[in-house]
Amino acid sequence: MSTGPLIRGYEVVIGLETHAQLSTASKIFSGASTAFGAAPNTQACAVDLALPGTLPVMNRAAVDRAIRLGLAVGAKVAPLSIFARKNYFYPDLPKGYQISQYETPVVQGGSVSFLLGDERKTVNLTRAHLEEDAGKSLHESYHDEHGQPCSGIDLNRAGTPLLEIVTEPDMRSAAEAVEYAKALHALVMWLGICDGNMQEGSFRCDANVSVRCPGAPFGTRREIKNLNSFRNMAQAIDFEINWQIDQIEDGLAIQQATVLFNPDTGETRSMRTKEDAHDYRYFPDPDLPPLVIAPEWIEAVRASLPELPAAMAQRFQAADGLPLYDAAMMTQSLPLARFYEAARDACGQPKLVANWLMGEVSKRLNAEGKTIEHSPVSARTLAALIGRIGDGTISHNAARQVFDALWDGQAAEVDAVIEAKGLKQMDDSGALEAIVDEVVAANPKSVDEYRAGKDKAFNALVGQVMKASRGKANPAQVNELLKKRLG
Ligand code: ADP
Ligand code: MG
Repeated sequence: MSTGPLIRGYEVVIGLETHAQLSTASKIFSGASTAFGAAPNTQACAVDLALPGTLPVMNRAAVDRAIRLGLAVGAKVAPLSIFARKNYFYPDLPKGYQISQYETPVVQGGSVSFLLGDERKTVNLTRAHLEEDAGKSLHESYHDEHGQPCSGIDLNRAGTPLLEIVTEPDMRSAAEAVEYAKALHALVMWLGICDGNMQEGSFRCDANVSVRCPGAPFGTRREIKNLNSFRNMAQAIDFEINWQIDQIEDGLAIQQATVLFNPDTGETRSMRTKEDAHDYRYFPDPDLPPLVIAPEWIEAVRASLPELPAAMAQRFQAADGLPLYDAAMMTQSLPLARFYEAARDACGQPKLVANWLMGEVSKRLNAEGKTIEHSPVSARTLAALIGRIGDGTISHNAARQVFDALWDGQAAEVDAVIEAKGLKQMDDSGALEAIVDEVVAANPKSVDEYRAGKDKAFNALVGQVMKASRGKANPAQVNELLKKRLG
């Protein structure tokens, strides 16, 4: 395998474990709701509370979503997989074990591809397995009914379905890990299996990081837990890499450990030495039969899959002539791809649509923290605007003013804004010729310079004409008329 970029002479090795909360209405083994933000403990039923005599029942919708992911990443969907008990004690885990999958997960292998700069990268997946989330312990700023500080347990999240997606140790930099995570994040939302809300914890990553001298065997890894933003992920991994290199340079060995990232200090800190699998006493859960997935089920899910982002990007390159980068950008989310296609169909100018979406539209969306679904300018309106540039009615500059007016809700229709702001380019060549004559008469120096072979002087004259027309002249027409006039 080729060596990745070196940091202080060391090669970095990263594997990611991602917990994607599956977007089911009810929990993975009970009928309680998974809706976010309810009052504590109002969405935990007898099964979630582990009351005696209760039994788990597999939620079919969670399996459906696991199959969707498996097919989308080209993995093997196991015809038979096993639920296992992962035993540990914690107050927010009333059963004393988490139901997960261990030796035989539902999704095996597969890969995720993405662009890192202009390079195509592929990260192999080890597996993806179904499991339940634990509850939540509230320690800080939590008080009992007498106002005394205490710890609280909220079991609303207990039993929420998770798909844990594990990669091979294939990544070689923080930037690559972030691009992988972004691609996976985009994919689970594209597939409609996870809402991707990182603030609410619907998509969180653990990063396993180690460093080694180039060519040496893998170093000992430390696992950074619960990274809930891409920015935190980049910062945490970079800090961790330098911390590990410092240790090694000081002659100290890296201890396998689980660490936490503190966004306030930008540092990672050891939480506990890492437990090994045998500490969990995994064994098959006798309350749940093996999960059997018949070929018909897999085929039904396959038939319901949308066109995948990679295939769509290829189509945009081949059929629309978009560059690789633009095609990747247009397939960052399904709503964006749909917007692009609608605008492209309406104006027939794929590259211009992509330019506007990557330029003005995304600038305004980012500034306002919005996504394309909430764009105040519709695909049809953007197409109409692009059409008015194409037919010479307005210049690019004027189009940006029209766009801003549409976005800010000053008017709904492109032509109405052009009219109201008087942005129409001059199509009266007589009037334009008069301006050209005036400018030529008023700038004898530039005219002489032009005739002496100075191109700059010509551009200055074009600028003068544009100014005199208050930006409404068509630059191409100005060029043509000036050339003719100057002989
Ligand atoms: P565990 O069972 O302790 O979770 P795994 O073998 O399942 O350990 O690996 C967990 C994650 O750590 C995987 O994403 C894997 O790619 C990654 N990983 C394993 N070894 C290393 C290493 N030496 N450096 C970085 N990441 C690693
Ligand atoms: Mg693991």
